[in-house]
Amino acid sequence: MANSFIRVYQEHDLDNVKSRLLIAGDLAADCGSCRELGLDISDVQCKNCGTVYKYVTSRRIDSNQGERFKIVKRIKDKRPDLIFIDHSDYEKLMGQKKARDFFGD
Ligand SMILES: [Zn+2]
Repeated sequence: MANSFIRVYQEHDLDNVKSRLLIAGDLAADCGSCRELGLDISDVQCKNCGTVYKYVTSRRIDSNQGERFKIVKRIKDKRPDLIFIDHSDYEKLMGQKKARDFFGD
């Protein structure tokens, strides 16, 4: 029987995720560490900063909720080596972190 995608919650260090995150777009990908644009989803390493990716996410899953699992499957088929993280969770946590850093807490 084929496996299905089910969201699983795990603890990860946010700074570690940010520094090793590949952000997949429609056609190209960005580096979560240095924001380099125009990367390929198959890139193991950032051509600008040298980051070796461990995590992947996609902005598309936020705006295409019904397609969520298709998008995850397509990316996981290309990059089974990376841990797929939820983009809205990531953005929410980064926003909270920025606020904490700003207010010095
Ligand atoms: Zn980079």
